[in-house]
Amino acid sequence: MAFVLEKLLRPHILHIKPYSSARDEYTGKVGVFLDANENPYGALTGEAFNRYPDPYQSDIKEKLALIKGLSTAQIFLGNGSDEAIDLLMRAFCVPGKDNIILLPPTYGMYEVSASINDIAVKRVNLSEEFQMRTEAILEAVDEFTKIIFICSPNNPSGNKMDRDAIRKIITSFHGLVVVDEAYIDFSDEPSFTTELSNFPNLLVMQTFSKAWGLANLRIGMAFASESIIRILNLIKPPYNISGLTQQKVLDSLEQADKIDGLVKNVLTERIYLKQELEKLPFVLKIYPSHANFLLVKMDHARKIYEFLIHEMIIVRDRSKVVLCEDCLRISVGAREENKQLIEALKRYEPIIKNLN
Ligand SMILES: *Cc1c(COP(=O)(O)O)cnc(C)c1O
Repeated sequence: MAFVLEKLLRPHILHIKPYSSARDEYTGKVGVFLDANENPYGALTGEAFNRYPDPYQSDIKEKLALIKGLSTAQIFLGNGSDEAIDLLMRAFCVPGKDNIILLPPTYGMYEVSASINDIAVKRVNLSEEFQMRTEAILEAVDEFTKIIFICSPNNPSGNKMDRDAIRKIITSFHGLVVVDEAYIDFSDEPSFTTELSNFPNLLVMQTFSKAWGLANLRIGMAFASESIIRILNLIKPPYNISGLTQQKVLDSLEQADKIDGLVKNVLTERIYLKQELEKLPFVLKIYPSHANFLLVKMDHARKIYEFLIHEMIIVRDRSKVVLCEDCLRISVGAREENKQLIEALKRYEPIIKNLN
């Protein structure tokens, strides 16, 4: 049975009539606009925020299409990747009936979004090395499995998934495979966007929240076949990306040549942070990272987490997460921040000694 989009979607999705916005009917930029009940005098801030933004973010997509080597019709932009995750569940999964497969330990939003939408979750844990157990994943698939989420590089483990294992899942599973590449810019791994033309059931997610430094603006990307992207555009809220965000993202894309420099700083700091952490006696293991964070196994991780909070240094406690026992996830900071973390951790040593 091959991948047939129409059969995979929730049946009613095929009959939805999209909201026809005022701006859909007349796409010219010049005119007397009395069609959208906007305020003609402008905003109190003096900025031109009184008009509704472009619902399809065409300017951004044109730039992105060139950068990614895709067509604009293969690009969806969402209010964070989180919006794309939610829309995918709503498009493909019948609540109370269908299921998705997750590969713990992984990004928490897949599960949250599934619960909100009343979608069952099947979990196939990664191996001890945080790699995909391909056979077990395929065995978990049943007739109601619609989506498999693969996060690579993975959050919170930081590793990239074996490329052939991902391909194996895409070719063997006839539902949708989502490869979440939120951290791809920090990795030497090529993006799966280059393989979209081979795989009609592949959707790749990326985000402006990490390498691009735009987490506050909320904008994420999804890349897939034109027919899948059409569905996401059909069911999204019409004006899901604000005009201000669109402006700032465009500004950023115009300076895309500088992104490598930004990423390089983080990679330099990742090495520094790792070197310094390794010197601490209570650090048991630092997992290899292809992302902008380190997963670190520590003696009494929870205690160290609480000590750091007391020092007003906030890291992520993952010690209760499957396969991450006694692990903290530490984002790579700027040099000064990393130094403060290390200095604080050095102060923690005496406390351990006192306890012994
Ligand atoms: C941070 C992150 C995202 C990004 O989410 P946004 O909603 O775009 O900020 C997506 N996936 C993973 C795995 C992440 O860690």
